[in-house]
Amino acid sequence: MKELLQTLPKVDELLRDPLFSHTQSKILKPLIQKSLQNLREQILSKTLTSFSLDKFKQELLSIYEKNTQSTIKPLVNATGVVLQTNLGRSLFSKEILDEVFPLLMHYNNLEYDIKEGKRGERYTHIKHLLCTLLGCEDAIVVNNNASAVLLILSTFGKDKEVIISRGELVEIGGAFRIPEVMKLSGSKLVEVGTTNKTHLSDYEEAISEETSMIMKAHQSNFKQIGFTSSVEFSALTALAKKRGIIDYYDLGSGYMQGLQTNEEPSILELCKASPSLLSFSGDKLFGGPQAGVIVGRAELIAKLKKNHLLRALRVDKFTTLALEATLRAYLNNELEKIPTLKMLNLTSEEILQKAKDLHALIQSIPNLECQIIALDSLAGGGSLPQTPFKSHGLSIHFPTLKASNLEKALRERGIITRINQERVCLDLRCIDQSEYTQIYNALQQISEVSNAK
Ligand SMILES: *Cc1c(COP(=O)(O)O)cnc(C)c1O
Repeated sequence: MKELLQTLPKVDELLRDPLFSHTQSKILKPLIQKSLQNLREQILSKTLTSFSLDKFKQELLSIYEKNTQSTIKPLVNATGVVLQTNLGRSLFSKEILDEVFPLLMHYNNLEYDIKEGKRGERYTHIKHLLCTLLGCEDAIVVNNNASAVLLILSTFGKDKEVIISRGELVEIGGAFRIPEVMKLSGSKLVEVGTTNKTHLSDYEEAISEETSMIMKAHQSNFKQIGFTSSVEFSALTALAKKRGIIDYYDLGSGYMQGLQTNEEPSILELCKASPSLLSFSGDKLFGGPQAGVIVGRAELIAKLKKNHLLRALRVDKFTTLALEATLRAYLNNELEKIPTLKMLNLTSEEILQKAKDLHALIQSIPNLECQIIALDSLAGGGSLPQTPFKSHGLSIHFPTLKASNLEKALRERGIITRINQERVCLDLRCIDQSEYTQIYNALQQISEVSNAK
């Protein structure tokens, strides 16, 4: 035991080792000390009976790298789910980033009024574009749509009643639940109707002296079918106007235009009825940066601006610029700059061609069984929950590997897939041609490893 303890290297020796010449010693030193301490304890407790210096140095190096390298990696999304919240939701196109980056490398007038030579307001830039696009009176932007809901409820609902249908007390991914947010904001939740049916008269009868708002929440991530009915937002807007209260639509998914669907309410259409307030996510179907966009009546937006909570929910310049560039893409009808829409609009035939190209590239890999198959992609991100987007992909298999092991091996090489009927499937909808080589290399490696067994 004593001998083994004596074979342990000294901290200074290790720090001078050429293997660590590229490392920062102030980071490496505590790692070495901690690892040596662990070794000593293991030797004393007799759980360690031999020691290899080379192995120890390699371990130190990998701990060092783990602690100093970025853990965010690019991934290939082969799931066919376009808006994958776990994988970062909407992507940016190079065109949008090319508009944003030069501005980020200079000082700018985000919050400076050039004409007056004094402090300006960061929301004016976005406001002009949104008002042009939607015909609304005013707009502001916060960190995400969850913040938008919280800001609106705490500004107008605090110690007052907010009416909402029982069918819309929704939970979105990431533990966002309407009743919880209401509680947090200090609003009193007034549920009306039933789970499956809510009528206009339910809202009418619930309005009292204490009512500040009728809220509608989009059933983003689920769909009710069968014996159901809900009230159109335009009818709620009309009712709210008549009774002098606020109507607010938490739209979430934020569909503007550009898809062949009538399943999602469009912001453009909804704004025609001049709602009091409407909010949506920037990075769902809208296809921009993470943000919560609030549009509506000027006097109400002015009150939101006076709420001190806004300071804590404020968006930075990157978000503002990326949102602005995305809005300009909508205004100029350049929807090809928005990857979310582009991917959702790929036809089944276009994706079939991609599947054929990838198939041709990988089919020579030893032992790989690979077939082109028809698949259904999904929009994801709490939108269009029941709408399948006809797609194509590859079903892949190695005789020596279970599907779950192949899925894991691909995942560890940065390729995220789905398993369908005991087969790993790669949906080509969200895979870019530039990613084919990565897939080829991963499969080639897996083929070698699985063969060696
Ligand atoms: C997605 C969603 C939210 C939360 O939006 P984030 O931008 O993810 O914060 C809130 N409400 C509805 C209806 C949603 O669909």
